[in-house]
Amino acid sequence: MRLLEEMILSKGKVYPGNILKVDSFLNHQIDSQLMFAMAQEFQRLFRDEKITKVMTIEASGIAIAVMTAYVMQVPMVFAKKSQTKNLSADVYSTQVMSFTHGRVYDVKIAKEFINSDDKILIVDDFLANGVALEGLCDLVNQAGASVVGAGIAIEKGFQDGGNRLRAKGLHIESLAIVQEMNDNGTIKFLSKQ
Ligand code: 5GP
Repeated sequence: MRLLEEMILSKGKVYPGNILKVDSFLNHQIDSQLMFAMAQEFQRLFRDEKITKVMTIEASGIAIAVMTAYVMQVPMVFAKKSQTKNLSADVYSTQVMSFTHGRVYDVKIAKEFINSDDKILIVDDFLANGVALEGLCDLVNQAGASVVGAGIAIEKGFQDGGNRLRAKGLHIESLAIVQEMNDNGTIKFLSKQ
């Protein structure tokens, strides 16, 4: 998606450890117009699917996911990374290793918010090694619901998550795929035909 690629080139910063910082429009301050444009693009890319719910993981996926759900006119639900007092005890749970925080989280979602007949689109800000996405798929599978696909804002194509999960049959659409980036700030995208 041209607009997202231009934002990454003009405002993204490459940090050591293969981290792309996009705090000025996606991960801290949020560009609502961009979120809306990305949501519309997900709607176009997944137009053949009958989606009943959008799902993400807290916190960074929430903004894009809620816009996508709004455009698709379905609810959005997000998996929680910590056991808060107000989370029901009746949960589906899985473990996810956070790429950016370097620690394992118990990720939970209340059973009442996923039904076995749900057709779920997973949305997230980044796809790197794919563990967050796998964890979300695991929660959906535990509920007996189905994952129709995953809409990702930025995929780091030089990490193996995207290819590994596509090889397993998951329909993944990434709006920008970073093919190469390095500490001097160079960022190259995989151009889609
Ligand atoms: P994965 O589980 O695919 O390895 O990593 C995905 C998660 O890690 C995303 O939900 C995102 O929050 C975070 N993440 C991975 N790589 C990056 C990155 O380069 N920059 C930022 N800002 N977050 C990342």
